Amino acid sequence: MALVHNLGFPRIGAKRELKFAQEAFWKGQSSEAELLALAKELRATNWQTQSALDLVPVGDFSLYDQVLDMSFTLGHLPSRVEGLEGSELDNYFRVARGRSANDSGCNCIHAGEMTKWFDTNYHYIVPEVTAETTFTLNAERLLSQLAEAQAAGVHAKPVIIGPVTYLWLSKEKDGSNRLDLLPKLLPVYSELLEKLAAAGAEWVQIDEPALVTELDADWKHALESAYHTLKATQPKLLLATYFGTLQDHLQLACNLPVAGLHVDAVRGRQEIEKVVDWLPSHKVLSVGAIDGRNIWKTDLNAALEWLTPIAEKLGDRLWLAPSCSLLHVPVDLDSEARLDDDIRSWLAFAKQKLAELTVLTRALNEGYAAVADELAANQAAIESRNNSERVHNPAVKAAVKNITAELGQRKSPYGERADRQRTHLKLPLYPTTTIGSFPQTPDIRKARLAFKKQEISVDHYTAQMKAEIEHAVREQEKLGLDVLVHGEAERNDMVEYFGEQLEGYVFSQFGWVQSYGSRCVKPPILFGDISRPKAMTVDWIKYAQSLTDKPMKGMLTGPVTILNWSFVRDDQPRSESCLQLALAVRQEVQDLEAAGVNIIQIDEAALREGLPLRQSEWQGYLDWAVESFRITANGVSDETQIHTHMCYSEFNDIIEAIAHMDADVITIETSRSDMELLDVFEEFEYPNEIGPGVYDIHSPNIPTVEQIVKLMTKAAERIPAERLWVNPDCGLKTRQWQEVTPALEHMVAAATALREQA
Ligand code: GLN
Ligand code: ZN
Repeated sequence: MALVHNLGFPRIGAKRELKFAQEAFWKGQSSEAELLALAKELRATNWQTQSALDLVPVGDFSLYDQVLDMSFTLGHLPSRVEGLEGSELDNYFRVARGRSANDSGCNCIHAGEMTKWFDTNYHYIVPEVTAETTFTLNAERLLSQLAEAQAAGVHAKPVIIGPVTYLWLSKEKDGSNRLDLLPKLLPVYSELLEKLAAAGAEWVQIDEPALVTELDADWKHALESAYHTLKATQPKLLLATYFGTLQDHLQLACNLPVAGLHVDAVRGRQEIEKVVDWLPSHKVLSVGAIDGRNIWKTDLNAALEWLTPIAEKLGDRLWLAPSCSLLHVPVDLDSEARLDDDIRSWLAFAKQKLAELTVLTRALNEGYAAVADELAANQAAIESRNNSERVHNPAVKAAVKNITAELGQRKSPYGERADRQRTHLKLPLYPTTTIGSFPQTPDIRKARLAFKKQEISVDHYTAQMKAEIEHAVREQEKLGLDVLVHGEAERNDMVEYFGEQLEGYVFSQFGWVQSYGSRCVKPPILFGDISRPKAMTVDWIKYAQSLTDKPMKGMLTGPVTILNWSFVRDDQPRSESCLQLALAVRQEVQDLEAAGVNIIQIDEAALREGLPLRQSEWQGYLDWAVESFRITANGVSDETQIHTHMCYSEFNDIIEAIAHMDADVITIETSRSDMELLDVFEEFEYPNEIGPGVYDIHSPNIPTVEQIVKLMTKAAERIPAERLWVNPDCGLKTRQWQEVTPALEHMVAAATALREQA
């Protein structure tokens, strides 16, 4: 009999209950007891939802982040929280976000660094280690949640991050080698496992997703020695890997001395047969058969076709699970009241994915006939999606097929274009601009909401947005900026705004996924071939341009960013969807140019985010990502100046690709790195223009003229002044006008001073 289990369930709640409780607590509007009570309620609901499973995860719930939870379990906190007043939870939030409830300005500390969890859009708090780091067990959270789950009547399986992945995720603060800490770490893990066993845990899921990344010999050796050390202890260990293939670690993963192995059979389908062959016969194999990273229904009949022979081989040793924790998908499709029946029938969120797993398991255990109705319904849904005209648009497919290299090619090389643009645009040295958005004031948000709810007419809404655009233009003129923007008042979000206007996209109401802490995102769902029924931004930009003689910069989101911030199709490669997006946004670029807009910015904030986990696969991604950008951008005349913008990026290892994008101007976030980010552009002899951000827009602080001049002087030591622009790090939508105006005044004054010095 195959078993069915889960690796982790979303913790935010179907209506983001956790977010609201966290934020109320941080603002001092509710007590610690209230927050903890809500958390307990959410856990109970989640276990209830999962109660049909043979094993249910415990310890996957978190009040902020599962890596930070593990740090607390290991008694490993940064020394800056030592001796502070308050509860353990206060310290937890201090590490997570710099302050807890009631911490006054001076009581707060700097938050732990946050970084992406593998290739997901979830961010974890990086454990900070030094050679002196020590660990002491604090098993309270896990033990009490285990007791809760047992009391709730589920067969509980505690989930922890494995010791090697924990160190892999950590960062050395003193140049030591974090792997040297393994011998200090393992006794704490042993102790924890013993305690969990004593508390009745038969199985413990120990996550080692580092196994799907490139590991050098030291790390592989660490895995061996860690699990040989831990094997003496009681509960049975299910070693979980996910987010990719094992490749050259396949044998290692199969042979580690644990009782079971979980593998991602969505991204690693091709390896399953080998794993079945290699896995020693006393071990359980947990097959991650349904996609924990996407929102599509699984083709259950197709899954059964490849699972059945495996089930016959493995018998009781087969477990079924999602490919990874369901943390990365929304909670419950049943919350969606507005999706049409077609689309709804194609989707599965966390709760529905567990139901799929149950059907698969029953089919294997009891025979297909036992779930004939479910399988038939699933087949109907899969066929409806496969054959839908809403998904398949032959004209779009043909357009992608007909893409030629020429489409991605500007007419002349950068040098010639730059001359023409100089003559045409007549910009001064150190031209000043902004990244696109101006403050999204309460009035703007109110108007947008009222329009969405159909409380105000299109005309009323349009008039109000035009007034906002005019305000932004007049302010920029007063400030004396050289290249203006319309301010993005009409945009809620840089991806959603375009998705809403493209054919092939749909939006959920409650499809939230945790990004970090209380922050959730609602990725749009790219379900079909992408086309653009009509121009999306031209009227707004044209209107903005009509108000001023200064050049107006058109503002678009690039195809790679739209793709990387969406749930994407699983029935075609990402590259294919990206090219479709590229063709649609290219039409918009050309329409803007035809409308007399001579400068067009195409934001690619998320280009780096799409990099695969293994560096050996980077080039393949960069090839199609950069080609998609080029197709979008390069259908214009030499006189038209193409800008791109990228924030939160590091460029060292992708500079060649950035240069190949061949944007006339790239604006980047640099202020916090003190312009050091430009080193690689200098070394690479990056040929085009650069606008290194001169101040951090995340902070309310107003930069001084001197600070900006100093930063730009540093920039000019690396990049010739004729190729430098002066701009903030990113868009200004989260700031207030009272911060924006003086900051930009200083920025313009700095540019003036720099021109005089030149
Ligand atoms: N144009 C966008 C803005 O200014 C860019 C946002 C981003 O890079 N994240 O808001
Ligand atoms: Zn940005």
